Amino acid sequence: MQQEHPDITFITDTAPVATATHGGRAKCLQRLVRLDLPVPRTVALSFDEVHRIAAGEMPDMDALLALLASESLICVRPSSEDPDWGGPGAILNIGMNDARHAQLSLEMGAQAANALYARFIQSYSVHVARLDPDMFDDMDMESDTVCQQALDAYEDEAEEPFPQQPADQLAGVLRSMARAWEGTSARLLRQAKGAPADAGLGLVVQEMVLGLGHGECGSGVLQLVNVTTGLPQITGRYLSQSQGRDALLTGAASLFLERDTRGPSLEEKAPAAFEALKAHAALMREKLREEMQIEFTIDNGEVHILDGVRVQRSARAAVRIAVRLAKDGIIPRQEALLRIEPRALNELLHRQVDPEAPRDVIGTGIAASPGAATGKIVFSAAEAQASAARGEACVLVRRETNPEDIRGMHAASAVLTERGGITSHAAVIARGLGLPCVVGASSLRFQMRKHALTCPDGRVFREGDMITVDGSDGQILAGEPAMLEAALDDAFQSLMNWADKERDIDVRANADTPADAKTARNFKANGIGLCRTEHMFFDADRLTVMREMIFADASEDRRSALEQLLPMQRDDFTELFRIMEGQPVCIRLFDPPLHEFLPTDRAGLRDLAEALSLPLSDVTRRVDALGEYNPMLGMRGVRLGITVPEIYDMQARAIFEATIAASHEGDPVVPEIMIPLVSANREVELVKTRVDAVAAAVRTETGVDFDYRLGVMVETPRAALRAEEIAPHCHFFSFGTNDLTQMTYGLSRDDAGRFMSAYVQQGVYPEDPFHTLDVEGVGELLKLGAERGRNSQPNLTLSVCGEHGGSPESIDFCRKIGINYVSCSPFRVPVARLAAAQLAIRDKIE
Ligand code: PEP
Ligand code: MG
Repeated sequence: MQQEHPDITFITDTAPVATATHGGRAKCLQRLVRLDLPVPRTVALSFDEVHRIAAGEMPDMDALLALLASESLICVRPSSEDPDWGGPGAILNIGMNDARHAQLSLEMGAQAANALYARFIQSYSVHVARLDPDMFDDMDMESDTVCQQALDAYEDEAEEPFPQQPADQLAGVLRSMARAWEGTSARLLRQAKGAPADAGLGLVVQEMVLGLGHGECGSGVLQLVNVTTGLPQITGRYLSQSQGRDALLTGAASLFLERDTRGPSLEEKAPAAFEALKAHAALMREKLREEMQIEFTIDNGEVHILDGVRVQRSARAAVRIAVRLAKDGIIPRQEALLRIEPRALNELLHRQVDPEAPRDVIGTGIAASPGAATGKIVFSAAEAQASAARGEACVLVRRETNPEDIRGMHAASAVLTERGGITSHAAVIARGLGLPCVVGASSLRFQMRKHALTCPDGRVFREGDMITVDGSDGQILAGEPAMLEAALDDAFQSLMNWADKERDIDVRANADTPADAKTARNFKANGIGLCRTEHMFFDADRLTVMREMIFADASEDRRSALEQLLPMQRDDFTELFRIMEGQPVCIRLFDPPLHEFLPTDRAGLRDLAEALSLPLSDVTRRVDALGEYNPMLGMRGVRLGITVPEIYDMQARAIFEATIAASHEGDPVVPEIMIPLVSANREVELVKTRVDAVAAAVRTETGVDFDYRLGVMVETPRAALRAEEIAPHCHFFSFGTNDLTQMTYGLSRDDAGRFMSAYVQQGVYPEDPFHTLDVEGVGELLKLGAERGRNSQPNLTLSVCGEHGGSPESIDFCRKIGINYVSCSPFRVPVARLAAAQLAIRDKIE
């Protein structure tokens, strides 16, 4: 009787069943059969067979039924290739008819037999005959005549008697499930979950163990882990005299599985069955190499396993589960690494809104920096600082942020802006600080003067009101939802250590402050790949000196202002070097246009005039004169280094003096000095000459020798194109993909947010190029720059330090073109380490 038909297959340990042809459930059942587990007899229908059924071509139903025991009721369940793609619900108790009802009434009592039959008629009516579910609303399930009422109701609505032949019932069930899968809404739903348009459905037809009757009978689900933490814990429920997943219904009188202080348990009620279940579950974990949720039935004390599905899990549980499976020797470490989606680590690195907590969403924007935080609304950086001084958490709300807001951002628990995209100032700084941030939240009305935020539904939130910013999904929530803490536990550390043994590209961090550098160390970055020095000048005491320098007329006056800044810069760098303990630190010389350091409003101008003892008109004129129509393409970066060379001289000296100071205490420091916004070879020659001169002067003055490495940031298209002539002056190139993307597309990184979603929606760009590296255009410049640079300087170290550096897709591209390291915000370092490990492992496997 048992056949090896590939499309209608009785599941044995050798039957031709595969996930790609019969679906995951059928394959899993075969694995359980191979383990000799008590699985009811099952037939698997292939995708092709189900497709034919949907088209009206029915298999020989009698032959199919002959594969199963004639006295059994049967159930049909879906078996798609990936369980996440869903499928029609299971239909149980096929084969129930008048005769079987009479027989079961004798065997198990009228009430249980009535419940079974009535339930089947109901489910057949709704899911197979597609009758109105309301027709059963008034039926009393406890009544002795419930079956007759249900049969009559069916006959009235369907205008034919309820089918009595098991073969007819089964045919109806198979046809309706096959057609449901091919319907448009089901297809769209599964495509949204990543299924291909032509994904197939398999069906499994299984003998039923009823879960009803004499002795201990019932059904339930069991798993060996906690789905939120991934820690070992037997969880699930069991309900006597029940079927399917009834035990999970709220209000059901279900038992705990393991002994529990909260109520009675299966362990107490049926200890032998509980022990058998635990043993089966442990075997499944070991042999299926996965934490499985088991659907089981107990029949007169005996356990049957109906199904096993992979346990759904949070990201933190996924990490712990994979690590435990590897530590228990069930899967290799490489496989554990491959099982974790790198971006999912974000969930562990930051606090999250508890997925179970209700969310009162008041607005949405671009998810610019992950994690969630709650605080009182403040509308200025000064208020944020005042709030922090009072020990109150606050959310800094701005139209957009600029360098003057940095201290406010440090003080805030989250940032929300009306404007900006994924590489806007707020987004970049927030990611660096690990601060939850939503930018471009233009669905909210930002009334900065009135100190109010108005939501689309008309609610108004004012200064001091409590909101929550969820930077993981771009939502702004009212109030204080429950949170889950970050989870940098031992499982996370083990996984990351394993990743480091596999990867073949370094990961550094973009870090500007001691706090950033400590985070970078904490996340085991291979050094600092980009220290943006301009952020060091915004402290109140430094800002005044900086402004004096900007207003100085003569080089001498500039020098004397810069001399005041020198010891502060030296201390900044010394501290960074100390924290990084000999790991490389790449310091970028001053980059932004000077006007960013000047006040923008009248009151600020007046204060500045007072501080510099200059007439207000003078100050206003000078500030106006420094204004530029297009500052991002103006007097910034190396252009400033050439025209106001005293700034770079001071910074180079601070770096070298810090090098000497920090080298005294530990490993010798070899600083890396990086020149921003280079577009011509001569720029590098000029800056290099001055930096070399400063180094020589410091060596002579101190009598101490030291090494340093000089390199350029390749962030203009011309620098990439002329890489061959620039490289001989350099130890390294670091591709600044933020500016390079801006300049390659001619797209403002601060304003592109306004139309980016329209562009992506209409398929003009496949993705926001500031978010996902444009490998075709910007990537080609990277490739050209790398090749041309190495042509003339084979030992050139290459890196990417733009925001793309941490994304798994960019790392793939970077490895392929021979980049030595990527550098990203400290909080993205673990994601990048894991992504790099996965790429290396996949290369080794292939
Ligand atoms: C870049 O342009 O890619 C970069 C890293 O520098 P910044 O973001 O500071 O301009
Ligand atoms: Mg740049």
